[in-house]
Amino acid sequence: MTRLVVLAGPTAVGKGTLVRALRDRNPDIWLSVSATTRAPRPGEIDGEHYHFVSDQEFSRMIEHGELLEWATVHGTHRYGTPRAAVLEHLEAGHPSLLEIDLQGARQVRASMPEALFVFVEPPSMDELVRRLVGRGTEDDLERERRLRTAEVEMAAAREFDRIIINDDLDAAVRHLETIVLDPT
Ligand code: 5GP
Repeated sequence: MTRLVVLAGPTAVGKGTLVRALRDRNPDIWLSVSATTRAPRPGEIDGEHYHFVSDQEFSRMIEHGELLEWATVHGTHRYGTPRAAVLEHLEAGHPSLLEIDLQGARQVRASMPEALFVFVEPPSMDELVRRLVGRGTEDDLERERRLRTAEVEMAAAREFDRIIINDDLDAAVRHLETIVLDPT
């Protein structure tokens, strides 16, 4: 059994970019593929980026206890971590990573306190806003909603075991790799 690493942090802090760069560098690190009720963005592949499921299917997964954790993120869609895959990879001894929101991380903390919890921080709040606007994938209303969530989420850093400041991407990736390969 290895120790699960749970990565969380405010929206647009660059968790996705960080995790992609980590796996380019080290493909042996397993990343959980979440289920979500939101629609795929252009270029997103079902089963690779997410399992894109209907509302009904998501409810079925909850009822059958198939999700390790789940949450409604940004007040809109539901996202959750399929439990079976996580357990399989931990039992096989693979370095394993979840990239989830704060509510989800808290649920994992409750059910799997032996996991290691890592928080990604932006260099500053101004930089976080710049990244959120720069991404351009959300409309104004959605961006407002995500910013409000981000402000609340920033205050949660102290609940985590480790903090990574995502300033220089390369340094942040190396920091994360060290943690995931040796989560002691
Ligand atoms: P996006 O829609 O931009 O792909 O993701 C929105 C948010 O959902 C991100 O903050 C991401 O961390 C979170 N998220 C993705 N998968 C999961 C999951 O399985 N569980 C939870 N709780 N949050 C998730």
